[in-house]
This record gives sequence, C-alpha cells and structure tokens, in this order.
Amino acid sequence: MIHSFDALILGGGAAGLMCAIEAGKRGRRVAVLEHADRLGKKILISGGGRCNFANLHCQPENFLSANPHFAKSALARYPPAEFIALVEKHGIPYHEKTLGQLFCDRSARDILGMLEAECQSAEVSIFLNTRIHQVERATEFVVHAADAEFRTPALVVATGGLSIPKIGASPFGYDLARQFNIAIREPWPALVPLLLSTEDRSHYSDLAGVSTEVIASCASQHFREKMLITHRGLSGPAILQISSCWKNPHRVMIDLAPGIEVTARFRDVKIPRNLTTLRSELRKFLPQRLADRWLDLHTPASWTNHALADFENQIHTWSISPAGTEGYEKAEVTAGGVDTDELSAKTMESRRVPGLFFIGEVVDVTGHLGGFNFQWAWSSGAAAGRAL
Ligand SMILES: Cc1cc2nc3c(=O)[nH]c(=O)nc-3n(C[C@H](O)[C@H](O)[C@H](O)COP(=O)(O)OP(=O)(O)OC[C@H]3O[C@@H](n4cnc5c(N)ncnc54)[C@H](O)[C@@H]3O)c2cc1C
Repeated sequence: MIHSFDALILGGGAAGLMCAIEAGKRGRRVAVLEHADRLGKKILISGGGRCNFANLHCQPENFLSANPHFAKSALARYPPAEFIALVEKHGIPYHEKTLGQLFCDRSARDILGMLEAECQSAEVSIFLNTRIHQVERATEFVVHAADAEFRTPALVVATGGLSIPKIGASPFGYDLARQFNIAIREPWPALVPLLLSTEDRSHYSDLAGVSTEVIASCASQHFREKMLITHRGLSGPAILQISSCWKNPHRVMIDLAPGIEVTARFRDVKIPRNLTTLRSELRKFLPQRLADRWLDLHTPASWTNHALADFENQIHTWSISPAGTEGYEKAEVTAGGVDTDELSAKTMESRRVPGLFFIGEVVDVTGHLGGFNFQWAWSSGAAAGRAL
C-alpha cells in the first residue's frame, strides 16, 4: 500500500508530536510513523511519572551544544510560555516544584493526552507499530515500512537518542543522517549517574542513600544541587547535571561544603584542636555518616593552621576520576548527535539535503536537568512544524 503525505515525521515522541501538531494546524497533511505500540512512552515515564514539561527560567545557557548559539532562535520563537498556554488551555493542573521546574499535579498522562488531542484536531495521521526498513530519496522521500510505503517531499527525523533502549530508543536518526552524509557529533550518555573508581567505591559505597548539597564542577561548568551516594557511585541532581559535561579522562571536582568554612571555629584559640571537635564541626555541615567517613579518610596530619587549611581545602576540592557512567540504560538523555552546523537554526532543515529535518534529542542540543530537554523538543518541533 502506498501513502502520500505533505510531511512525514519519524518518531512519535515529544518533538515529533509537537512538529505534527504545528504542521497539521497549518493545513499540512501529516503522518507520524512510530515503531512502538504507542506514542510518547518517554513522556509517560518522565519526571517520575509527573513530567517536568517546562522550566520558567529557560535560557539558552541551559543547553549544551558544540554551537551554544544554535538553540536561541527556536527557543525564542517557541518559549516555555507557549507550551504553558497550551497546558492551561487543556485545563491541566500543574505546579512549580523548585527552580522554575513545572510538573503535572496528576500525571504525565495529561501531557501525552493533550498532545494526542491536539494531533487529532489537527488531523494528523498516526501509524503505530511501524518498522522502517529503508529511506530513499528520488524526487521525493520514500519510506519503506514492513507492509506499506510512504512518499513525501518533507521528512522530519524525530527518533530521539539512545537513552533507555528498553522503551524504544534506537540509533535510527544517526544512521539516517550518516546515510545522507550529514555529520554527527559522537553521542554520549548524559544526565546519568557516575561510577566511582574501585578505590573510591570501597570507601563510600556502603553510604548508599546518603545525600548532601554540593557544587559539582567539570569542564568549566558547575552545578550547586544535591548529590546522592549510590552502591556503584554518585547520583542526584548535581551529579546528573555534571555528567553531561564529563568525558573520560576528565576529573570531576566536588565541593562538599559550598560556601562554608568548616574549620572556622578553630581560629578561636579557646576551641580545643582535636578530632572530637572537628567531628562535631563537620557533622554540622555534612550528614553524620559522611562526615565520619570523611574524617576517617582525611584525618588532619597535625593540628597546625597549615594542616587545618589543607583539611579545609580537601573538603572543597574532592577530585574524583569516575570509572564511567551508568550508560544509556540509565541516562535521561543522549548528548551529541546531528551536528548543528548541518541544520538551519530557524527551521531545523538540513542545509545539505533540502526537505530533510532533524528535531529533538537526535540533534546536538542537550538541556540541563529541569524540564529543558522537553523544552528543546517542543521548540525544535515547532520550528520545523511551522516550516513544513
Ligand atoms: C526516565 C526519563 C525521565 C525524563 N524526564 C524528563 C523530564 O521530566 N523533563 C524533561 O525535560 N526531560 C525529561 N527526560 C528527557 C526527555 O524525555 C527527552 O529529552 C525527550 O523525550 C526527547 O524528545 P524526542 O521527541 O526527541 O525523543 P523521544 O521522546 O525519545 O521520542 C522518540 C520517538 O521515536 C521513536 N523511535 C525511535 N526509533 C524509531 C524508529 N526507528 N522508527 C520509528 N520510531 C522510532 C521512539 O519509540 C519514540 O517514541 C527524561 C528522560 C528519561 C529517559
């Protein structure tokens, strides 16, 4: 069976659905081809099931890319306010959790339901369980699926990254880009827990579950948020954020007591300089088990000012050399992807292959933790959808 559409969107996730809605609203005959048995599976598991769908403080600085300017145009033309207006039009209750992060009050199903309803009113055709075998380009793009063929002058790749393969992630988008000689920035797992080296693990893994506020730094980026010790390494928002900037063999620097001088009281000559006092000072700023372990491993060599200064310095500059990350199985997103130099920042269309568009996570634009990755999906999806 042969189908013809004005535009075909490969991948029915956040970016693909937004693109379909925008193009459908403008009267384009659009189809979404999705290989899974339902749309938007990642939306459903996002934000712990409540979908952190946007961030009130969204800025271009919240995105990592080889070209930090690339995302600006799409974000300016489809800012968080537009998506929030859509959420409000559908009467979806939501709240700001922290740091501008907007979550559904009820469930991520509300966001997916809204996108599906918008697709329906824009008369978007949806093809589920559709495995794509081959894409060719003659005068039009021809997409061969198992039992159908689709023809279109405009093909939008919205198949996401490699994160969470068990719910449908595939390298399809990167493979298609390579097929058309479009450059890729080597992908890597991002927003992902870090694994500690064997030695560090032997020191800290029994503290799994302990969390504290830190500043994590790497490659001139730094994040002040919670860090969580796990059985295999480190997690929590500060670590997930910094993981996006980390590449082997970089080191990650952790300030365990941001803005605090742990040894300040020792300036008072009446305060006894001994382990008991130092332990009780440290316990004021760190969870007790972590404070005790830190002191066991970093007992000051003596009680001179110099030794205390060294102790202070170590707390603010814990330098770890991660053994790796938990990988795509646990990564919230995939960094890297289709090189932005290949795309128009206004429309997401390939400069090399007219009619071919890339949107969402498959592109080398990765948001910080906090609703920014969905924002990129909505903004890049809308940019392409309005250009179709
Ligand atoms: C556990 C988890 C929680 C998250 N929580 C948040 C959050 O709260 N806030 C936030 O901003 N971001 C969050 N993210 C990130 C966010 O989900 C993604 O950045 C976003 O979904 C990317 O949208 P996308 O449309 O580009 O890709 P996806 O949403 O991954 O959609 C891609 C679609 O393409 C389909 N597909 C793949 N290959 C093929 C193929 N060969 N043929 C046909 N279809 C194909 C997939 O099945 C999928 O439906 C989370 C991610 C994870 C894994």
